[in-house]
Amino acid sequence: MTTLTVDTMTAGYGDVTVLTGVSFSVGAPGITAVIGSNGAGKTTLLRAISGLIRPASGSVTLNGQNLAGLAPDGFVAAGIAHVPEGRRLFAGMTVEDNLMMGAFSRRVPAAELQRDLDAIYAIFPRLGERRKQDAVSMSGGEQQMCAIGRGLMAKPKVMLIDELSLGLAPVAVDVLVAALRTVAADGLGLLVVEQDVAVAFDLASSIVVLDRGRVTRTGSSAEIAADPAVRAAYLGEA
Ligand code: ATP
Repeated sequence: MTTLTVDTMTAGYGDVTVLTGVSFSVGAPGITAVIGSNGAGKTTLLRAISGLIRPASGSVTLNGQNLAGLAPDGFVAAGIAHVPEGRRLFAGMTVEDNLMMGAFSRRVPAAELQRDLDAIYAIFPRLGERRKQDAVSMSGGEQQMCAIGRGLMAKPKVMLIDELSLGLAPVAVDVLVAALRTVAADGLGLLVVEQDVAVAFDLASSIVVLDRGRVTRTGSSAEIAADPAVRAAYLGEA
């Protein structure tokens, strides 16, 4: 069992404080979703967990190891992968080369990397069919598969995914949700920022509600989905 713990974290950009006193835990295996309105600080939260920005105070620990002292590239080696908003695939590179970029920090034999690639192609057969194609020429859903596959190639303990379903066709979202369930069942911890609360409640077992930089609720998906205040705020129910 792996646990990622965010404890009373405050973070932002320069003088701008975005997150205040944020605390919650993510267990692996398992899927946790972060919901919250635009500008609540969801992207900032993932950036602070994966070392792209430094929290001003508080801590992020992975199985008790405080990540604060790590260099930016140390977070991947420690077991945190980050699938950024908008996928950020490398243009002009094939699907397979993009996937391999996820493994850049691993010093393992080529045969092991090939096995890991094959495992990704088993999860996402579409990527296998398109392995020699320029990654950014694919559909949005296929690009999200590739970005997730690239994250998996780092062999993380916990993977952060920003805006899983944004702009994607429902059928593509279904493929992604099924794949994430598979990798979570295999032991991975997932922390997914998801603006579509219906997708979040369906995918995740635990929910973190972020409102203006503060955690206002945490709980099981069923609990949070039944909360009248959450339903009023995010599902438009009176
Ligand atoms: P959205 O769903 O709209 O992407 P979000 O919940 O992911 O929102 P963030 O992107 O984390 O929210 O933004 C939270 C706040 O931080 C916003 O007020 C935003 O303007 C501010 N912010 C984001 N990035 C920066 C930055 N690089 N410099 C300064 N402020 C920033």
